Amino acid sequence: MTGAKKETVAGSAAGETRPLLADTELVHVGRRPGEQFGYVNPPLYRGSTVLYPDAATFEKRDARYSYGLSGSPTTDALEEVVTRLEGGEGTVLTSSGLSAISIALLSALKSGDHLLVTDSCYLPTRKLCDKLLDRFGVTTTYYDPRIGAGISGLIRPETRAVLLESPGSLTFELQDLPQIVSVARARGITTIIDNTWATPLFLKPLAMGVDISLHAGTKFFTGHSDALLGTVTANDRLWPALKETFSVFGEFAGGDVAYLGQRGMRSLHVRLERSMESGLEMARYLEARPEVAKVIHPALPSHPDHEIWKRDFTGATSLFAIVLKEGPKSALHAFLDELALFGIGASWGGYESLAIPFQPVRTATRWQEPGPAVRLYIGLEATDDLKADLDAGLARWRETGGAA
Ligand SMILES: *Cc1c(COP(=O)(O)O)cnc(C)c1O
Repeated sequence: MTGAKKETVAGSAAGETRPLLADTELVHVGRRPGEQFGYVNPPLYRGSTVLYPDAATFEKRDARYSYGLSGSPTTDALEEVVTRLEGGEGTVLTSSGLSAISIALLSALKSGDHLLVTDSCYLPTRKLCDKLLDRFGVTTTYYDPRIGAGISGLIRPETRAVLLESPGSLTFELQDLPQIVSVARARGITTIIDNTWATPLFLKPLAMGVDISLHAGTKFFTGHSDALLGTVTANDRLWPALKETFSVFGEFAGGDVAYLGQRGMRSLHVRLERSMESGLEMARYLEARPEVAKVIHPALPSHPDHEIWKRDFTGATSLFAIVLKEGPKSALHAFLDELALFGIGASWGGYESLAIPFQPVRTATRWQEPGPAVRLYIGLEATDDLKADLDAGLARWRETGGAA
């Protein structure tokens, strides 16, 4: 875990410096070739034991790296780049996106506290709140993601944190972050956002006043479906609590995973540019298909929260949902099962396209769509090939009783 390090490049005027732009930060921040024989990438450190020069140093335990859990130059490389992109005070790395959510919530809460969680949260977040936090005396209330400033009506004297996720998992509602943050701030309540969908390239929650931004680094950061990783970044107000909770918990992302994470970051901007372009192209193609009742993509003008997307986000990734017209389950399966390029599987953010059927779990709101819903992730394939794959799938949908 590392705190913020101010790095700048020389500006045009003598002695003047300016912050690096995001694309440049992704390429340069957290790398120190001069300290590693010129090698471009940080070394991959694997280890538990760290040796000390003598007993006196061991007794003081003030070495930069004191034990495997205190990190290594490999984990530092990833922490630094995430901290810089999020504009936070510091970042910790965890073993999965779900553990990042746990560490963030445990940093902000104690027994007796009340927590507000968006109804559109990632489903395992709901289980964490209902099955674990509840046992430790934290009560959770789920709220309508579109509640905005109305969240003030749900706040109790013991409310200590608000969990945000925008857009929401599966259903993609956008939250009015400035309104929710201003209500929370006025009462000293911590705000935490799961920023996995947008990444810090497309949404900067800390700059909008959110205290903690976390990611399933499993998705776009590693970007190749080959690792599980979580990151949690806090502002200066929450960093001491996050650092303390992380260090006593024993949560950790090993060198191999951190290495893959930092390697993935170096091309994040290029992959996201393509992701945005292909995602929108596929969303527009699907909007024109007669079998599709609705495309739910925040960057489409048809999305009910499109104005919020335009105001707060600088881009959109290629994870979105469609609702088909009504049809039997067998037609839905005929559509999905024979897709040649879209795999059926959890997670997303890799180079390959995915499609999964879903039925969201909601308790504060109601999912009203009558037809079957499918979440699509558009990978790095050629969009013409993806369209041909979906064309054939939608033909199977019609042939097996799906409406058009
Ligand atoms: C995948 C995902 C997670 C969990 O990440 P894991 O690494 O699979 O635990 C959390 N939040 C969101 C929004 C996700 O999509």
